[in-house]
Amino acid sequence: MTARPSTAPVGVFGGTFDPIHYGHLRTAFEVLQAARLQHVRLVPAGDPPHREPPRVAAAQRLEFVRAAAAGEPGFVVDDREVRRGGPSYTVLTLQELRAEWPGTPLCLIVGMDAFLGLPTWHRWTELLALAHVIVAPRPGWIAPDDGLLGDLLARHRALDAEALHNAPAGRILIQPVTQLEISSTELRDLLAAGRDPRYLVPDSVRALIRARHSYSVSQPTR
Ligand code: ATP
Repeated sequence: MTARPSTAPVGVFGGTFDPIHYGHLRTAFEVLQAARLQHVRLVPAGDPPHREPPRVAAAQRLEFVRAAAAGEPGFVVDDREVRRGGPSYTVLTLQELRAEWPGTPLCLIVGMDAFLGLPTWHRWTELLALAHVIVAPRPGWIAPDDGLLGDLLARHRALDAEALHNAPAGRILIQPVTQLEISSTELRDLLAAGRDPRYLVPDSVRALIRARHSYSVSQPTR
């Protein structure tokens, strides 16, 4: 029998964060608390491989994430995907973190929409050997009950957060969080229309977006 890991799990929350918003932050914070993680690493993608190129350059998205995370000791901003260059494959990030945290449970945090796309990710079948997955339900997205992901869920499902503390990787927990129907896509549209993102993003992020004219149609930032 393998020994129970002696340190609490580390959360890994990746995203394009174009821009980061309260849907991301509240989800990360509730998962941090509910799963009793030691911290959540916010990992902005430098070059997200499965989507359109981001509207705003990686350095600026990283700046927004740093501003959003400031003052919350449970959040650590991890800039490795921005520094690494090349496509920001999660499997590479988890491999690096696994080497840095041998034996510590790692928990990849994804929204339900991202979980449903998992089979399109680079080397996705290796992910559960490197980390647990915590899935946050998101308005409009339903957990799979059949097919590839339904089977995966049935085989690996954890019934509570305790299971994530008992092994370094390999379990999937669906963790209910407050459902906030905010998306970066809608924020970009709102900003491009010249509207105010107040109460959808932290004030610090709003101030930076304004100062940099990041999403205005007339003043592209890259
Ligand atoms: P976009 O609209 O540009 O696709 P997004 O708002 O979905 O962006 P991403 O940066 O692509 O944000 O998402 C990063 C992660 O955060 C993904 O796992 C996604 O499922 C999750 N996520 C995003 N918004 C929410 C939300 N409102 N509630 C819960 N999870 C979310």
